Amino acid sequence: MRGVIIHAPHDLRIEAISPVAPAAQEVRVKIESGGICGSDLHYYHDGGFGMVRIKQPMALGHEIAGVVEEVGAGVSHLVPGMRVAVNPSRPCNHCSFCLDGQQRYCLNMQFMGSAMRFPHAQGGFRQSVTVDAGQAVPIAPTLTMAEAAMAEPLAVCLHAAARAGSLMGKRVLVTGSGPIGVITLAVARYAGAGEVVVTDIAPFPLGLAKKLGATRAINVAEERDGLAAYTADKGHFDVMFECSGNQAALVGAFDAVRPGGIIVQVGIGGEMTLPISVIVAKEIELRGTFRFDREFALAVDVMGKGLIDLKPLVTATLPFEQATEAFTLASDRSRAMKVQLAF
Ligand code: ZN
Repeated sequence: MRGVIIHAPHDLRIEAISPVAPAAQEVRVKIESGGICGSDLHYYHDGGFGMVRIKQPMALGHEIAGVVEEVGAGVSHLVPGMRVAVNPSRPCNHCSFCLDGQQRYCLNMQFMGSAMRFPHAQGGFRQSVTVDAGQAVPIAPTLTMAEAAMAEPLAVCLHAAARAGSLMGKRVLVTGSGPIGVITLAVARYAGAGEVVVTDIAPFPLGLAKKLGATRAINVAEERDGLAAYTADKGHFDVMFECSGNQAALVGAFDAVRPGGIIVQVGIGGEMTLPISVIVAKEIELRGTFRFDREFALAVDVMGKGLIDLKPLVTATLPFEQATEAFTLASDRSRAMKVQLAF
């Protein structure tokens, strides 16, 4: 079988890899769809992000879905032929955080296609992956493989929403309308938000945000004071999801968040300087959010029931052999939202 392996920035190769037979409690999944994520693009363009760097060849990808092909000893709830979304998180399940039900903090986490640890955890952009049986989550017959491969980013956004608490009737601002921003918008609508305003600096993603139900989509590159109307009386929004990882987006929105408001930082850029005096005087809560735990199964469930429809976000699908073209396309925000590879 073959996979999409990164060796260095802009050096993506299609290479032969040996399939791994499933051990006890494992399954081998034949991958059909794989979505390109912002972090895959960071590896592709910059060799990593922050302190995380590629130090050895690594298969990219962690948004994947496919069909169970082979099951190891002791696996009874999965059989060959079952269609599954693959959860890229493989926690150790015996550290203190895992035992406390907070696997996302696991001290020994193996997260697919991540160079955070060495040796790196190999990713899911390959024709088959062997995973813990618990990582393979069966999907509804109505769900396409492309949608199933969106379970991971949806899980990220469901967890971000959980960090904000109830959104019922709330006024919500989403800064940055890449895939995570637009999925967060969809989650906020699903969770009962009364109003969701999104910002970005590119027209194409803002157009998609409107289609997915944004109350207003503001291009802050063209309309620099586009949030000014929301700053009267100490601010308008109850909750803000910062999905761009851009300091200007975060700092520029503080005046639009009302006193007692909550800001959930979803995007990761570089380190930022914050207006601490505003945070203090308006008693704003700044909250982090990291990956997900049980939200992966929830993502598969809500999409399977048709409660959240992310199909409009998949703007292109290319054969995995054309990974370089797909990564170039995924980097072009003037015409791409989520680009997927077909295996
Ligand atoms: Zn653990």
